[in-house]
Amino acid sequence: MACFPGGRPGAWSFALSQERMIMNDHRRLGRELGIFDTDPLIGSGLPYWLPAGSAVRKAIEDYVHELERRNGYQHVNSPVLGKRELYERSGHWAHYAEDMFPPMLVGGEEFVLRPSLCPHHALIYRSRRRSHRELPLRLAELGGMYRSEPSGVLGGLSRVRAIQLNDGHVFCAPERAAEEVSAALDLIEAAHARLGIRAARYRLSLRGEGAKFVDDPGMWARSEALLRDVLNERGRDHDEERGEGAFYGPKIDIQIADPAGRESTLSTVQVDYFQPERFDLGYVGGERPVMVHRSVVGGIERLVAHLIEVHGGAFPAWMAPVQAVVLPLSDAELPAASDLLRRCLEAGLRAELAPADRGSLGARIRAHRLVPYQLVVGPREVASGRAAVRLRDGGQAGEMPVEQLAAQSRPFGSIG
Ligand SMILES: [Zn+2]
Repeated sequence: MACFPGGRPGAWSFALSQERMIMNDHRRLGRELGIFDTDPLIGSGLPYWLPAGSAVRKAIEDYVHELERRNGYQHVNSPVLGKRELYERSGHWAHYAEDMFPPMLVGGEEFVLRPSLCPHHALIYRSRRRSHRELPLRLAELGGMYRSEPSGVLGGLSRVRAIQLNDGHVFCAPERAAEEVSAALDLIEAAHARLGIRAARYRLSLRGEGAKFVDDPGMWARSEALLRDVLNERGRDHDEERGEGAFYGPKIDIQIADPAGRESTLSTVQVDYFQPERFDLGYVGGERPVMVHRSVVGGIERLVAHLIEVHGGAFPAWMAPVQAVVLPLSDAELPAASDLLRRCLEAGLRAELAPADRGSLGARIRAHRLVPYQLVVGPREVASGRAAVRLRDGGQAGEMPVEQLAAQSRPFGSIG
């Protein structure tokens, strides 16, 4: 049982020197590790996920879902397309059409693959009579969105046409907006620490010239000042760039850099007075709510591309495609090793067995060098029924019950 399907683990050092980082191009490593691939018959910018990639992705999605739940978010699900009129109402049609797929005609109506989740969430807000007591209402969704990128700019997972976006919208009273922007930055910074991501810089993305941006100078001035004040209060150095805002409002963008120094936006927080107006949102006991748009980890594709490069395939235990490999010393320990594998799987670990017919213990350890926990089963472990945990850096974590190993392999410790 190969640890990473189709992969050749063991070819890399764990020392992430600069040179090594450059070798960690996610497109090469992602294919070698069995994370993702593409097929010209599906099309460029439309990668698919292989088993190891789906495992990493599920671990991250579960973590973000739990982080949001703990911070007062309610999760929703909405369709990946909507009628053209929806995007005319939201303003996308007027300001963002060149990035959208053309409409599909079905039963005399035009449908568009959605360029963002915001309009659906605005309608979900509007679907019930809202009271000031319900605010702030925090809705989150991991959902598909689509961008008609030209084929020349597409590559691997970092630039794609179909994006699974970690999105969320906080509907709140205007006087509460700054607090909610700051709370969103708390979430982003907590998630980055857990994922092992270091921001390249914070960018305050402002309105630029032209019809791409809603023409309402007072609205822009108000929302830009709000975001700037939050950044300053938090002591976050940032650059301000004109022309990088959303069409409806300014953004705090948290930029990451790839090994070659190319920057892209991962996480974002935006304050929006425009869409609440367009969708005529309201609540009892107040006037119009503000929409704080936020993405904690951005699109899953770009996030995983970055994580492959940052960790060089040696993912933190909680998100590793395979968390534990069971290594019987010889065929004599195979029954005990099979039992240990079963207990690992039942405890929630992603685990595999590498029996003795795969080679010497040293060879099997090398083949699984990216797996965080290597559980060697010899006569002593057969007798004790516990696992002797070897770490991938060669260190020993000692004997421990499988449940304890599973608990420390979760992003929130014993919960999750
Ligand atoms: Zn949004």
